Amino acid sequence: METGFLPRGRFQELLAVLHRSGYRCLGPQVRDGAIVYAAISVAEDLPRGARDHQAAGHYRIEQTASPRYFGWANGPQALKPLVFAPQEVLWRARRQADGGLELHQEMPPAERLAVIGVRACDLAALALQDRHFLGAAGDDPHYAARRAELFLVAVHCSDPSDVCFCVSTGDGPQASSGFDLALCELDSGFIVESGSDRGAVVAAELKLEAVGADARAAAARQADAARTRQHRSLPGRDLRAVLFANLEHPRWGEVAGRCLACGNCTSVCPTCFCHASVETPALDGGASVHARAWDSCFSQGHSYIHGLTVRSDTRTRYRQWLTHKLGSWHGQFGRSGCVGCGRCISWCPVGIDITEEAAAVCTGAADE
Ligand code: SF4
Ligand code: SF4
Repeated sequence: METGFLPRGRFQELLAVLHRSGYRCLGPQVRDGAIVYAAISVAEDLPRGARDHQAAGHYRIEQTASPRYFGWANGPQALKPLVFAPQEVLWRARRQADGGLELHQEMPPAERLAVIGVRACDLAALALQDRHFLGAAGDDPHYAARRAELFLVAVHCSDPSDVCFCVSTGDGPQASSGFDLALCELDSGFIVESGSDRGAVVAAELKLEAVGADARAAAARQADAARTRQHRSLPGRDLRAVLFANLEHPRWGEVAGRCLACGNCTSVCPTCFCHASVETPALDGGASVHARAWDSCFSQGHSYIHGLTVRSDTRTRYRQWLTHKLGSWHGQFGRSGCVGCGRCISWCPVGIDITEEAAAVCTGAADE
């Protein structure tokens, strides 16, 4: 719901309202040559004028004279690490004098977190993570604790990168749900929409101005331009049948010849949720620490089952990743696991492009 206009010079007021409401604010900043979420206290912390240039195996930040804070597409980090920690202790066990075990669940510290600058693709990915971690089998307590305290300030994408294809997956570039507030950034300021009751409370405190006809027209033009500038796409939204009909396609072997099995693609992917359990017992057998850590289709251990590594080569690991992401996710979640953010393309050290690989397997299929 559109609520009003916040002039650029008053952006600090949004941060002040969130801070007063008890939130620690995270926003985009340039660190080590990439956009990442980090703590912000003042608007000047935001990456004014930063633009990202992305291509297969390529990511660079350019500094421009633009007044905009959000004129970039994304960085390697989505919302995933804020709710599903890359590595965390879940519980500890200690042996008692009578031989019994004392178990202690270790929970993350409670913290209200407002994340500013969230993209539409990342909201779609978070909705998928919610389906996994807050699903029918019950809530994952660590995920649920972090998720409940998130306040999400989305910013509609005005400048998708060359690897973005969220139009093709139906997930962007405009944020349509899953946010508390959404901002449309124009040179002069921000059109503010609220998407939840608590978002409406924050918007009301801002005492926003009326949105002018010029601002509304500029926002519509910007949204159209963001959509039309995307040139990558997947060959369809439901590729289950064609992918599973082509499990012996020669392209799997060809891509395996380039793939380093490094797992970068799964680390940056905002929807990948696989993890490994890590037990660290004390040498005397008196205690043990149970942790979980992100895992990947590309690691050898990920398919180790009862003395056997089921996917022993890169060909079958890459095939597992792509056929799960674009195929069997439909059976689990009713849609594909790709939200078109393009991160796996930019951050692949050898520039493997999921849209090219999917097209190669699905169109001109070997056994058609
Ligand atoms: S598969 Fe690639 S493009 Fe799709 S959501 Fe994951 S990182 Fe983004
Ligand atoms: S596709 Fe690229 S990023 Fe993914 S494991 Fe292979 S080399 Fe690494």
